[in-house]
Amino acid sequence: MAVVSLPGTTLLVLCGTPGCGKSTFATRYFRETMTVSSDRCRLLVSDSETNMAASREAFKLFRFTIERRLSLSRFTVADSTALTRRARSELLRIGRKYGFNVTLLIFNIPEEVCLDRNAGRERRVIRQGIARMQKMLRHTLQVAHSEGFDQVRVLSQEDMYNPALKIEIRSHEVTVPGPFDIIGDIHGCFNELNMLLDKLGYRKRSGYYTHPNGRKAVFPGDLTDRGPHSLDSFWLVKAMVDSGNALYIPGNHCRKLSRYLEGRNVKLANGLEKTVAEIEALPADEREFFKEEFLKLYYGAPPYLILDKGRLVVSHGGIKEDMIGKVSERVRNFCFFGDTTGETTADGLPVRRDWAKDYRGDALIVYGHTPVSKAIFVNNTIDIDQGCAMGGKLTALSYPELSLTQVPAQAAYYERAGFRNDFSGTTNNISTSTVNFSNC
Ligand code: ATP
Ligand code: MG
Repeated sequence: MAVVSLPGTTLLVLCGTPGCGKSTFATRYFRETMTVSSDRCRLLVSDSETNMAASREAFKLFRFTIERRLSLSRFTVADSTALTRRARSELLRIGRKYGFNVTLLIFNIPEEVCLDRNAGRERRVIRQGIARMQKMLRHTLQVAHSEGFDQVRVLSQEDMYNPALKIEIRSHEVTVPGPFDIIGDIHGCFNELNMLLDKLGYRKRSGYYTHPNGRKAVFPGDLTDRGPHSLDSFWLVKAMVDSGNALYIPGNHCRKLSRYLEGRNVKLANGLEKTVAEIEALPADEREFFKEEFLKLYYGAPPYLILDKGRLVVSHGGIKEDMIGKVSERVRNFCFFGDTTGETTADGLPVRRDWAKDYRGDALIVYGHTPVSKAIFVNNTIDIDQGCAMGGKLTALSYPELSLTQVPAQAAYYERAGFRNDFSGTTNNISTSTVNFSNC
């Protein structure tokens, strides 16, 4: 087993005899905060990792913490022995409740190795305990495949020593259920974003929106530039992502802003100059805070999202059928910029091919990047960037309903060279209603 590949929304349940190396493995492969350990919970509730009398309370905290993480859509590793059917089914139930992929990773390590490792560590488990647990391990190896896990992987001793063993987290694959409201390029149109979320039935909490029916917003990038409130737009999206109410992927404007924030030489054009003016008006400490938080969101995001078991794909610049499921430089660039030819128009804009015209895939592709006056369904793709910052509309596509909700721009905030603003004439016709594809 050289690679264990897991979707971004995974509860990875470790399972094995005390001393087999589960916690060491978790430390090696995962960020510290991703792992919830029953021993750590025992320590937290009773000041002692070995206080078995505190197990009941410790496991309540263990399950509670896991559940809270899953409610925020966080990749989580459950580090306990999980050698009873009850312990496993309880974790499986929590994972299912939040629509997570639940993978069981069984450490099939010989008893003598566990005894040896146990003897060599500070916190020891009694020998008889390990022998008893080994019997439970053998039973688990026989029955685990029929317990309903999405994946059961067995790790051997050789695997643990294998330097090529890789744990791959496919953060672009999100298993949490929708329904989803995918919202087109915001470009600093903060007022319109608030109006759109209101219209979609989201309710404002302190600093973010949440939907009473558990709907999630999906933001396919380009939060900033051109409109009047880029920073507010970013903070709202970030708070919705952090609170588990939204998913985000970056667009080319997010990429350019990240490069600016990192001190690279970027041209202050195409609306970035307005975002930079907002940043420069901040006091130094807030400027630094914005930089840190923006880069955290940007680098933490996958290039595109596969949702609803592959039936829905969201990407800023679109995606070709053969790219879905892959992540490479070529795929990343396509997701940022669309299908560019490398040439530029007389106005200095990149020439883009119409990839949607040739798309034949089964997954619905929802994208933005290229502002178009109407959201039209083309070969199972739809461009929901209706150029709000340039006087068009901010659009949401609700999934699986496939209905469009739009809010007209309060003003044309930006004019782009070579760009014909033909949004204003149609704005009012469909601005205040939720309409079906056929009407748009
Ligand atoms: P418990 O269920 O009691 O928490 P565990 O499965 O988490 O046990 P660890 O504490 O990770 O086990 O490891 C037990 C001991 O084995 C530690 O001293 C650790 O350093 C050592 N160990 C873990 N993995 C390896 C390995 N691959 N090679 C050699 N020693 C290891
Ligand atoms: Mg451990």
